[in-house]
Amino acid sequence: MPTLILKPGREKSLLRRHPWIFSGAVDRVDGNPDSGGTVNLLSSKGDFLARAAYSPLSQIRARVWTFDPSEAVDESFFRKRIASAIGQRNAVFSHQFSVISDSSFRLPPSAFRLLHAESDGLPGLIVDRYADTLVVQFLAAGAETWRETIADLLLELTGLTKIYERSDADVRELEGLPPRAGPLRGNPPEKLQIADGRLRFWVDIAHGHKTGFYLDQRDNRNRVGMLANNRDVLDCFCYTGGFTVHALAGGAKSVLSVDSSAEALTLCRENVALNSSILPQPSSLITPHSSLNGDVFQVLRTFRDEGRSFDMIILDPPKFAPTAAQAERAARGYKDINLLAFKLLRPGGLLVTFSCSGGIDAALFQKIVAGAALDAGVEAQIVEHLSQAPDHPVALNFPEGAYLKGLVCIKT
Ligand code: SAH
Repeated sequence: MPTLILKPGREKSLLRRHPWIFSGAVDRVDGNPDSGGTVNLLSSKGDFLARAAYSPLSQIRARVWTFDPSEAVDESFFRKRIASAIGQRNAVFSHQFSVISDSSFRLPPSAFRLLHAESDGLPGLIVDRYADTLVVQFLAAGAETWRETIADLLLELTGLTKIYERSDADVRELEGLPPRAGPLRGNPPEKLQIADGRLRFWVDIAHGHKTGFYLDQRDNRNRVGMLANNRDVLDCFCYTGGFTVHALAGGAKSVLSVDSSAEALTLCRENVALNSSILPQPSSLITPHSSLNGDVFQVLRTFRDEGRSFDMIILDPPKFAPTAAQAERAARGYKDINLLAFKLLRPGGLLVTFSCSGGIDAALFQKIVAGAALDAGVEAQIVEHLSQAPDHPVALNFPEGAYLKGLVCIKT
């Protein structure tokens, strides 16, 4: 088997079982491995460290499949890892079968992340389940190499028949892989409906962001639903209305959804309509939901100048800083929107603010939000810390997996 030999002292992160080997740590490559091929990783002294997938073009030169010298990387390896990810989801959602007695809440969510890449021991592979369709992303050379095996195993182990591929994320470029999207198994629909408790959502798996829906925010949307009663809510970066629908279902007095994407707003309005029969009916003639196509940075400024105010503001922007290198610019962006949001909040109002940037950790995010309150001249308390839903686990040996940070702040 081809071999990567590390420079002296560069085995430390592997001994802590971190799954990435950066190009700078590699002393030499023996045996001419293919892109995505399996290589043995050896220390400078020749000791076995791990078995990994080779990515000749990426700064992340290899991603570990296994630290066990006796474990081969073959079909049965992928079978074990996928089965274990499915077992984790069964475990984290099992309480929903028994704890809640209302039958409409009894089923686990019909959409969840089935497999979360490095955090489930399969670097570069994302699998989301939307009702009876799987949406898969192969984001690294190793996962790409095993594409057919993985697709077959996913059908076998889930009993489903449809897979749609969304391997069109930018990160594929870093691996020298072209974007690819379309049906991979069976005859998947491009747009489908999912259930989240008693709420329903349309998901455009063919054209939506990532695999179509931000599943990582599931629990936070439920939280927003519980806190929204009787509030005027501003949902910034609303995408297809996940927070909007939960806030309306939670009894919000009004919700204004803002996004720069017209397509996302169309789906947001469809999602509000889809749930209309279970949403509380407005007591006046004023429609509780409205949407605005615009740049949040601009919209918040305009609202400030117009003296508008809200009882709850949700800020769920896209990734401003994918890596630590962009952290400073991103920090200015986060501070800007959080500062404006604090100004638009009424006393007692709630700011529900997120960052999904890998380059900004929880401590830095909290500092940025604190700086925003200070500069806005308001006093606020953190009442809740939020993170990603449990179907997006964080392997303890892969802290990078903890990317979603959220705070609920109350303006005092
Ligand atoms: N809150 C959403 C997910 C947000 S994803 C949910 O729960 O599903 C980020 C969204 O921000 C995308 O829909 C994108 O179109 C939008 N966006 C990005 N930059 C923006 C900007 N400057 N102003 C308004 N919307 C923006």
